[in-house]
Amino acid sequence: MKKILITGAAGFLGSHLCDKFMKEGFHVVGMDNLITGNLKNIDHLFPEEHFEFYHHDVTKFVNVPGELHYILHFASPASPVDYLKMPIQTLKVGALGTHNLLGLAKEKNATILVASSSEVYGDPSVHPQHEDYWGNVNPVGPRGVYDEAKRFQEAITMAYHNFHQVDTKIARIFNTYGPRMRIDDGRALPTFLNQALTGKDLTVYGDGSQTRSFCFVQDMVEGIYKLLLSDYNLPVNIGNPDEITMKEFAEEILKFASSQTKIIYEPLPQDDPKQRKPSIDKAKEILGWEPKVGRKEGLKLTLEYFKTLV
Ligand code: UDP
Repeated sequence: MKKILITGAAGFLGSHLCDKFMKEGFHVVGMDNLITGNLKNIDHLFPEEHFEFYHHDVTKFVNVPGELHYILHFASPASPVDYLKMPIQTLKVGALGTHNLLGLAKEKNATILVASSSEVYGDPSVHPQHEDYWGNVNPVGPRGVYDEAKRFQEAITMAYHNFHQVDTKIARIFNTYGPRMRIDDGRALPTFLNQALTGKDLTVYGDGSQTRSFCFVQDMVEGIYKLLLSDYNLPVNIGNPDEITMKEFAEEILKFASSQTKIIYEPLPQDDPKQRKPSIDKAKEILGWEPKVGRKEGLKLTLEYFKTLV
C-alpha cells in the first residue's frame, strides 16, 4: 500500500484530494494547522483505518514516521481576502513550508507535487496563459505575498529536482470551485452564490469586465492525480479554459439561483488581474486530461452544498 502525505488536508482542495487518494487505495496522512481549513471537511475519514491526521503547521519541521511514497503540498490560504489578512503566514507556508516538505521528500525518496497557482502569471499580458509565459507580478503589491510565495515555491521545487534529483511536480492551479469552499472566503464565486441565496445584491468589483475561468473541483482532482503519477517535472496548468467576465458571471448566478436581487459595483482591488484563462494544451498532451464538468452542472452541485450552510 502506498502512503501519501497531503498538507492542507482540511481545506477545500486538500479534503477532496484526501477522498480521491483514499478511493484509489492509498494510506492517507492528512496535515493541517486549521487556520483556514475545517475538520468538518474530513470528519467522514476519521473512522477509516487508512487515514491519519496531524494537526501541524508545515512551516515548522515536518516529520512522518515510516515509509512515505508521495507528498501533495496544498497548505496555504488561497483566497485574496485570506492572504491579505495573513500575509506572513502565506509567505511562510509557500516558502518555509515548501522547503520542509521538499526536505521530507528527499529524505523519504518520495515524489512531491506542489500546488502552484495561476497567480504566478500575475496580471497577465499574454492571453490565454501558457506555461512558458513568465508572468507580470507586482512583488510589493498586496497580492505579492501569495504570488511571490508561489513563484519562490516553484523555484525551490525545481532546485530540489535539479540539484537533489527529487521527483517533483508543479501544478499551476486556476480558479477552482465546488462543495467545501468556505461560503465566506471572499472569493467571487462563493460570495455571489451566498448573496443570491440570502437576498443580497451581488458585489461586482470594478466594471466587471475582468475575466476568470472556473474549474469544478472533481476535474481539478483528476488533473492533480494524473500529474502526480506522470513523469513530467515542469509546471503544468490545470484549469478550465471556459472564460467569463465577472459581470456576465454575476448575471448568470442571479438567473441560476432565480434571485430577485441586483448587481452593485464596488471598487476594484489593487492589482486585480484583468484577464485569466489557462492554456491546457500541455495537460491534454502530457496527461490526456481535460475538464469534463460544465459551469451549469458544477454550479448546481455547489449551490446545493451552500444551501445546507445558509
Ligand atoms: N470579485 C468581485 N466581487 C466579489 C469578489 C471578487 O467582483 O465579491 C472579483 C475580483 O475582483 C476578481 C474576480 O472577482 O476580479 C475573482 O476574484 P476571486 O477573489 O474569486 O479570486 P482571484 O481570481 O482574483 O484570485
